[in-house]
Amino acid sequence: MTTVREVLASGTRSFSFEFFPPKTEAGTHTLWNAIRRIEQLSPTFVSVTYGAGGSSRDRTVEVTKRIATETTLRPVAHLTAVGHSVAELRHIIGQYADAGVRDVLALRGDPPGDPNAPWIPHPEGFTHAHELVSLVRELGDFGIGVAAFPEQHPRSRDWESDVRHFVAKCRAGADYAITQMFFDPEDYLRLRDRVDVAGCDTPIIPEIMPATDVRQISRFAELSGASFPEDLAHRLEATRGNPAEGHRIGVDHATRMAERLLAEGAPGLHYITLNKSLATLEIHQNIESTLATPGAPSTRSFARV
Ligand code: FAD
Repeated sequence: MTTVREVLASGTRSFSFEFFPPKTEAGTHTLWNAIRRIEQLSPTFVSVTYGAGGSSRDRTVEVTKRIATETTLRPVAHLTAVGHSVAELRHIIGQYADAGVRDVLALRGDPPGDPNAPWIPHPEGFTHAHELVSLVRELGDFGIGVAAFPEQHPRSRDWESDVRHFVAKCRAGADYAITQMFFDPEDYLRLRDRVDVAGCDTPIIPEIMPATDVRQISRFAELSGASFPEDLAHRLEATRGNPAEGHRIGVDHATRMAERLLAEGAPGLHYITLNKSLATLEIHQNIESTLATPGAPSTRSFARV
């Protein structure tokens, strides 16, 4: 199977869906229903987030391997440096390779429990994502993605250092980036311009989070540092007790954002599903014809310069 790198390099727009590892039997059932529905769309890839620790991490590895072996989908394995020695990271990457997983999203991760707590690296581990990118690159011919932050990473002092560190991850061997959630397309476009000015043309795929439930999305936005536009929050707030109307507003907002991003040349879209497929499938249906038009071919990767 080819990697996401090759798909993007061909100029084809990517579209992809993100899941998280379920905790219960019922959650596993819901997840696999969503995966099977999404499989029918032949997305470019699907990805599974990497848990904060212990059993949730095992479930990430298990679900990702099962996608690789039991479906026609291309899985991208999220992996973080949190609490891992380099030897452990090598072992996990080896497990993925054995199951036929060819793509890794290499992340630093956040301290478990409180994402804003001071970062303490594992004594035999990594401090920043670029080190994990280098390790994955060294271990095999993987497609490698990294994280990008349209509103700047919450720990970054300023844009200059944020962009410099992002470009360093690309130079270490990343083929593409996926953004943190955001709700104003201008934030994505400004980040892309800043990265471009810094001489880096690594494709940056915007993440699309359908905001259908104001309480849930405000919490996610708070955790990730993304700002949630007041007018959208008010409109959703007014739909309390009417989830169908909240759903309609969220899908409509995400559809308009996706259309704008594609019109501005975004190389694809990465949908957060929360393990349900309905809202993301509706958005995808709304913009399917736009997605079919080719994006700008992106053939250069710093790893190969
Ligand atoms: P880094 O690139 O290391 O950046 C972290 C901070 O350090 C930034 O402020 C950066 O500017 C700075 N920095 C980088 N390099 C240096 C350097 N050399 N010197 C000084 N400062 C530096 N988390 C999970 O736990 N599991 C997941 O599955 C997961 N999936 C994600 C998917 C996406 C698409 C995104 C956008 C985020 C995801 N996250 C996930 C969250 C992510 O792990 C956190 O946002 C984390 O805080 C940053 O990770 P990073 O890979 O960007 O780290």
